Amino acid sequence: MKIDIITLFPELIDTYAHNGIIGRAAENSLLSINYVNLRDFSEDKHKRVDDYPYGGGPGMLLKPEPLYNALRYIKKDNSYVIYLSPKGNVFNQQKAKEYTKYEHIIFIVGHYEGIDQRIIDMFVDEEVSIGDYVLTSGELPALIIADAVGRLIPGVLGSEESIVEESHSSELLEYPQYTRPEEFMGHKVPEIILSGNHQKIKAWRELKSVELTLERRKDKLSNISQIDIDKRCEKLNKIINRK
Ligand code: SAM
Repeated sequence: MKIDIITLFPELIDTYAHNGIIGRAAENSLLSINYVNLRDFSEDKHKRVDDYPYGGGPGMLLKPEPLYNALRYIKKDNSYVIYLSPKGNVFNQQKAKEYTKYEHIIFIVGHYEGIDQRIIDMFVDEEVSIGDYVLTSGELPALIIADAVGRLIPGVLGSEESIVEESHSSELLEYPQYTRPEEFMGHKVPEIILSGNHQKIKAWRELKSVELTLERRKDKLSNISQIDIDKRCEKLNKIINRK
């Protein structure tokens, strides 16, 4: 997959794209995250990319010409164009999975008050928000989405199992996890995890996932009746307490 991010701050994108798991994915040709410097596409001799909004109001807007030139330069028939915006559809794990089907994603990053509406009308397939709050610009949202999508591409993570069992891959949040030592500052790892009984460990983890989801994100279980949740917990407790 190729991801192009149209930005005024290429160095923010560059650092991220060349480090950690995402950087390794680039070295292995599984994913490439590139920046497109919007200023390079300005027609203005001072490389200006913003202007005052018609009709008045606070702040500045990104002008249409540089964005138009940049998009004409990089957009292909198979490109999916996303404008990062607090007004957009809210991003989540389901969307991350959906986006893995695209070969080329272009992110338009907004600054100041945003971008000229005509660019959205002409080029944008979807406006996407990363949550109900407002940031100063769209670089972080673009990288957050690129990261969430990139790690779902087969081969990017060491173990494909990590994706299957983690929070938001199903209706349940992930269970608590422990590593060595068995006791740390007087806090012990739950005995069942050390028991070696895989069936019991699996049941315990599922029960903890259900309990945690009920406590923190009950909305995720809204399609399941309380009776079914109680039955599921009862069944898991039976396995856990089996002699
Ligand atoms: N005037 C805009 C509004 O009220 O919807 C907010 C503009 S914001 C200060 C500047 C840029 O940051 C936006 O154009 C967008 O690219 C990015 N941005 C800010 N919050 C965001 C969010 N929650 N999700 C995605 N992008 C966001």
